[in-house]
Amino acid sequence: MPKYVKYVYDFTEGNKDLKELLGGKGANLAEMTNLGLPVPPGFTITTEACRHYLEHGTVPEGLRTQVDERLAALEGRMGKRLGQADDPLLVSVRSGARFSMPGMMETVLNIGLNDASVHGLAAVAGGDAASERFAWDSYRRLIQMFGKTVLGLEGDLFEDALDTLKRDKGTDSDLALDADDFRALVATYKGIVREHAGRDFPEDPREQMDLAVKAVFDSWNADRAILYRRQERIPADLGTAVNVCSMVFGNLGMDSGTGVAFTRDPASGRQGIYGDYLQNAQGEDVVAGIRNTVPLADLEKIDKRSYDELLAIMETLENHYRDLCDIEFTIERGKLWMLQTRVGKRTAAAAFCIATQLVDQGLIGLDEAVTRVTGGQLAQLMFPRFDDARSGDSTLLTKGMNASPGAAVGKAVFSSERATELAEKGEDVILVRRETNPDDLAGMVAARGVLTSRGGKTSHAAVVARGMGKTCVCGAEELDVDVRAGRFTAPGGVVVAEGDVISIDGTSGAVYLGEVPVVNSPVVDYFEGDLAAAEGDELVKAVDRIMACADEKRALRVRANADNPEDAARARRFGAQGIGLCRTEHMFLGDRRRLVENLVLAETDAERRAALDALEPLQRRDFAGIFEAMDGLPVTIRLIDPPLHEFLPDLTELSVKVAVAGENADPQDRRLLEAVRRLHEQNPMLGLRGVRLGLVISGLFSMQVRAIAEAAAERRLAGGDPRPEIMIPLVGAVQELEAVREDALGILERVKADTGVDVPAMIGTMIELPRAALTAGQIAEAAEFFSFGTNDLTQTTWGFSRDDVEAAFFGRYLELGVFGVSPFETLDRDGVGRLIRIAAEEGRRTRPDLKLGICGEHGGDPDSVHFCHEVGLDYVSCSPFRIPVARLEAGRAALAGEGSDSR
Ligand code: PEP
Ligand code: MG
Repeated sequence: MPKYVKYVYDFTEGNKDLKELLGGKGANLAEMTNLGLPVPPGFTITTEACRHYLEHGTVPEGLRTQVDERLAALEGRMGKRLGQADDPLLVSVRSGARFSMPGMMETVLNIGLNDASVHGLAAVAGGDAASERFAWDSYRRLIQMFGKTVLGLEGDLFEDALDTLKRDKGTDSDLALDADDFRALVATYKGIVREHAGRDFPEDPREQMDLAVKAVFDSWNADRAILYRRQERIPADLGTAVNVCSMVFGNLGMDSGTGVAFTRDPASGRQGIYGDYLQNAQGEDVVAGIRNTVPLADLEKIDKRSYDELLAIMETLENHYRDLCDIEFTIERGKLWMLQTRVGKRTAAAAFCIATQLVDQGLIGLDEAVTRVTGGQLAQLMFPRFDDARSGDSTLLTKGMNASPGAAVGKAVFSSERATELAEKGEDVILVRRETNPDDLAGMVAARGVLTSRGGKTSHAAVVARGMGKTCVCGAEELDVDVRAGRFTAPGGVVVAEGDVISIDGTSGAVYLGEVPVVNSPVVDYFEGDLAAAEGDELVKAVDRIMACADEKRALRVRANADNPEDAARARRFGAQGIGLCRTEHMFLGDRRRLVENLVLAETDAERRAALDALEPLQRRDFAGIFEAMDGLPVTIRLIDPPLHEFLPDLTELSVKVAVAGENADPQDRRLLEAVRRLHEQNPMLGLRGVRLGLVISGLFSMQVRAIAEAAAERRLAGGDPRPEIMIPLVGAVQELEAVREDALGILERVKADTGVDVPAMIGTMIELPRAALTAGQIAEAAEFFSFGTNDLTQTTWGFSRDDVEAAFFGRYLELGVFGVSPFETLDRDGVGRLIRIAAEEGRRTRPDLKLGICGEHGGDPDSVHFCHEVGLDYVSCSPFRIPVARLEAGRAALAGEGSDSR
C-alpha cells in the first residue's frame, strides 16, 4: 500500500505556521478562517503536490480523489455545485508560494462559468440588465484569463478584440459596454481560443479547474518567476501551493468593491488607515494600478458598516500577528470578505520604526524587535540621500508618491530592454513607465530607480521596488509618459527624452531634472557620532535601541578591515572592536613605489638592506598612526601579501618604452624591464606571494615585524596601549609559518631589549588555502590565532580566479542554479564552510585558546556572519561601512539561537 500523503487542506485545517506546505497565502487564509474572520470557503493544494508535478510532469496519485472530496465538502457547505446551471458555485484558482512573489505567478478567476451557468449567475445576481452584464463580463474574463494562462495564448489577442469592440461602439470605456456586447465578446473569445489553441474552451467546470491548477503549477517556472526568485534569493525548488477559493464579487454594483489595506504605513511605519479602495471592481484592478482608486478612509462614507468591520479586523490581525499586516478584501453587496493577509513588506526605515513601536505597545520584546529587522535593511538606511538644501537649485519637475525610499540619479529610459542594455554597459538608469507589470522586472532590477506616472503605493511598481529595496516614485500623474516615443512631458512643457539625466527621491516623491547632489543619511551621522540618538528622529532612535540590544546579545566581536588611521578611526566610531585585517601592501603604493623598485632591483645584500631601511621608518609611522586610532584594541597587521611585480610597471608598457628609446633607453628602465620579465608569472595569484615572498626576499618580513614592534614600543612610551597581532598570509604548511615565526620572535626580543619596552604581540596566520585548513591541527602549533581569508579560500577551493570569473561566467552559473548567489559574496557553507569547520575544530584541538576570526569579504555579509556565529568564531572583520550590519547580524544570529559548534 503506498503511503497516504495529504495533498489537499481545507481552509479550516491549516494554520499560519504551515507556509512551507500551504504557501503564504494558503496558510494565512487558514489562519484567518480559524480566527473566525469572514473568509470565503475553499481549500489549498500543497506545494508538495506541485513539486511532484514539476518533477514528474503528472499530478501525484491520490490528488484527484482528495480534490473530489474537498470540492464535494465545499459544494455541500455552499449549497451549490461547481458550475451548477441555475446557481453556480464559482471558484478562483490562485498561486501562493512559501515566499510572496507579487504578480509573478498565475491566477484564474470565475472558474465554473459556461454557456449554461452564465445564465444562472445572471439570475442569482438579480436577473436585471446589470446582472446580465455582470454575468457575461465575468464569463469573458474567465475565457480571457484561461486562454492566456492555461492555454498560453497571447494576451493581446483578447485585448485587441476588446479594443475593437469598444471602437465599434465608439467608446473607450468598459463601462459603456452592455450585456449583449459581452455576449458577443464571449463568442469572439471562444473563436480566438479555437483558432489559436486548436481546441475549444472547455465547458466542463471540473476540467477548467484541473487545467487551471496545472497552469498555476507550471507558472512556478515562468521566466519572470525565475528571475524574481534569483533576485530575491528564493530557492528554486520550493514549488507553489494552489488555493481554490469560492468567488465573491466586488463588481456587482456600487455597493460592491475591492481594496487593499495596510495596518500601518509601509513607508514610515506610522499607524493609521492606509490603503486604496475601488468601487465596483475586482481585485486585480487595484493591484494592477490601472484604475483610479480612492483612499481607504473614503470607505467610511461609502459603506460605514463594512468600514468599521474592516478596521476591527485589521486590529485583530495586527494583535494576532504582532506585526504590520497587509490585506486584500472585497465587499460584495455590503458584505465584507477577507481574501488575503500576510505580514506586509515594508521599507527599511519602517521596519526599524515598526519593530520599536511594537515593543512600546507591549506586543513584542526588544529581543524580538532585533529579529524583525535585517542587516540588509540597515545597509539601505546608510545610503546617501538628496541634499534638501541644494535640491532647491535643481528643477523640480513634479512630485509623485514616495513609494520606496532612497535617492536615485540616472538616465531616463522607457523600456525594460533598454534599461537592461544600458545598465550592462555600466550606465545608471531610471526606468520610466506609465505603470509597470511583471514583464518589466528585468528592467527594474537593472535600474537605479523606478518612476511611474500611474498607480498608487500598492501598484506593482511600488510593491516590487519596495521588496527589492529600490528607489521608486510612482503615480506621478502630472507626467505624460510616451513610452513609444521614448520621452515624457512634465508640467510647463519640459520634455525629458531617453538619455536625459533625472533624479528621483523615493522618500519625498520629488522628481528633478538633472543630477541632484546627495548627503549622508542621518543613520550614518548617528553611527559617526555626529548625531546623538536623543537628538535624532524616530528612525535614529529605533536604530539606536535595536543596535544596543544586538550588541548586548551577540557572541561575535566585530573588527574592521582598515589600513590607515582615518579608516581605523571611522571603524571605531562605527563600533569596531579592533582591526582584523590591516593590509600592509596598501602602504607600498604611491611615492613609495620607487622604494619597492629599489628592493626588487637590489643585487647585493647591501643594496637590499638599504632599500628596506628606507621603507622601515615609513612603515613604523603607518603602524603608530593605526595603533593610536585603535588604542587599547587589537590590531592585526598582515605582512605583505601580493607578488612584488604588482608594484612594478606594466610589462608591455615598459617594453614599449625601452624599445622606442632604443640606444637611449634609461639604464634604470632596462634593469626594471629585466626584473619585470624575471618576476613575470602566468598565475600570479598562485605564485610568489604571501609567506612565500617573505621566505624568498630575505629581510622583507623582518623589516615589517621590526616596524610593528618599534611603533608599538613608541606608542607605549607615549602613554598609549597598542595591541599588535602579526599575521602571516597564504600559509599552506606549518614549516612555512615556523620559519617566519622564529625570525619574528627574535626580532620582538631584540626590540624589547633595545627599547626596554615589552609589548606582547601574538603571531598567527591566515587560513586561505585548503591545505592550511586540512592541516590546521599542525599549523596551530605555530599560530596563536587563525583568520580565515575567505576571498582566497573561496578562490582556491573552487579553483575560481577571483579577479575574472564573476564577470566572465557567473551570470550563466546563476542561471543554471549551480549556486544561488556568488560564493565570493555569501560564504559557500558546504565547501568553503566545511573547510572552515575542520580548521576551527582541529586548530582548537591543538590549541584550545586559539583565537578564530574571518577577514575575507564575507565578514560583512549577513548570511556569512550567521555561519561564523554557528561555527563559533571569536570575531568577524569587515570594511568600516559594513560594521553596523555585522553587529546587527551577529546579534540576530545569537538571538535566533543558532547553535555554536565550539564556543
Ligand atoms: C582573503 O583572501 O580573504 C583576504 C582577506 O586577503 P586578500 O583579500 O587581501 O587576499
Ligand atoms: Mg588573501
